Amino acid sequence: MRHIAIIGSGPAGYYSAEAAQKKFGEDVAVDIIDRLPVPFGLIRTGVAPDHQSIKAVSRRYEKTNLGDNVRFIGNVTVGEDVSVAELQELYDAVVLATGAPADRALDIPGSDLDGVIGSAAFVGWYNGHPDFKDLNPPLDARSVAIIGNGNVALDVARILAKTENEFAGSDIVGHALDGLKRSKVEKITFLGRRGPHQIAMTPKELGELGQLERARPVVEGSDFPDEGDDAMLEPGMRKAVTHLRNFHIAAADAQHKPIEIIFDFFAMPVEIQGGGRVEKLIVEKTMLDNDLRSIGTGERYELECQMVISCIGYRTPPIEGVPYEHGRGRFANVDGRILPGLYCVGWARRGPSGTIGTNKPDGFAIVDAIAEDIGAGDRKEGRAGLDRLLETRGVETVTFRDWKKIEEAEIARARDGSPREKFTDIADMIAARG
Ligand code: NAP
Repeated sequence: MRHIAIIGSGPAGYYSAEAAQKKFGEDVAVDIIDRLPVPFGLIRTGVAPDHQSIKAVSRRYEKTNLGDNVRFIGNVTVGEDVSVAELQELYDAVVLATGAPADRALDIPGSDLDGVIGSAAFVGWYNGHPDFKDLNPPLDARSVAIIGNGNVALDVARILAKTENEFAGSDIVGHALDGLKRSKVEKITFLGRRGPHQIAMTPKELGELGQLERARPVVEGSDFPDEGDDAMLEPGMRKAVTHLRNFHIAAADAQHKPIEIIFDFFAMPVEIQGGGRVEKLIVEKTMLDNDLRSIGTGERYELECQMVISCIGYRTPPIEGVPYEHGRGRFANVDGRILPGLYCVGWARRGPSGTIGTNKPDGFAIVDAIAEDIGAGDRKEGRAGLDRLLETRGVETVTFRDWKKIEEAEIARARDGSPREKFTDIADMIAARG
């Protein structure tokens, strides 16, 4: 019997578990350990609440968990309740699937002012992550600057711009919906340090901005390269740029929509200013060098704003004793191998890029590597040893069956038309299992 511990119950964790089930059949016992009492990581607290069709992938993970040889153990923090070294003693393979839940730092003066928020916190707040339920973003802001031109920036802008009506069918948490209903936002500005041909937004997600009830995207025509140059782009990117061009053309017809979502390209924030709270952003105009990197031109201007949300990517928090690559914000690894018996997968392995589906081949590849390394297993104790250790330490664990009760309670308390009202407090989650 092979014993595998997977740390993290997001997509990377579940695809690895599924791969282990398929590869080893009955000859494996997989424990998926999560810090929260509820599973699915990014699917529950990262994917936008108005993207329910993406969230539906959790049904596949549930199927994996219903197999006899895969177990979910929630409410266990690796590094506090049990160490990686202890898990390595107990399991043939320990796989870190911890994702990249921390913000890449916005390293400019003023980034510590009130009203400057990282996307991990803002996304966690509207998605009901217990760590960010008390964020209380300053929604009295009339002008909001969003730094970054990726899909997270798009999610954040769309959530800020939607009407209550447009959240029907979503599982945005009650505290966020209430806050957004009172929001004063009139102007949302994306600051992209490069141009329209360098955005990291995908076409489907970008297209949604053109369909909003009360908000209109605004793109300056002079920022575009020649239209003929679009032909050199890969098809997805070309489609995304076509959306930007259409936003420019359609701007006049959308004047009646009160919220502007402005794309400010070749714009690099260099300082945030304000007396205690953010009041303005100092922005430097940029141009591209021959390697398509942004370089400052020295020309500066001010953007008045009362909230800044930085959406410039994420990093994996280090774990004591695990080799770490600081520059790239992920575990040091070669094709997922960190040390003998210790692996990483998903964003913890490759950094925060790609779609949810990218984690599937990742999970299958890591299980191939594990199979090569551990053979038939090394007579480790596995889950019995972990259970004993956690019991002696008084750790209250949560099973998948418990989670199903928590889920039932979340469904029962949903507002009309919403699939669930998430618990945002760990104690409430644990109480809900009965
Ligand atoms: P991302 O795609 O890497 O985009 C980060 C953006 O921040 C880029 O535009 C980048 O510009 C900019 N940036 C980085 N450092 C900066 C700095 N110091 N100053 C100014 N701008 C800076 O990251 P993300 O938006 O966090 O998304 C993470 C991953 O999740 C991506 O793979 C994304 O596609 C995925 N995701 C998908 C969906 C969806 O499919 N619905 C939703 C959300 C997220 P440069 O290009 O110039 O570096």
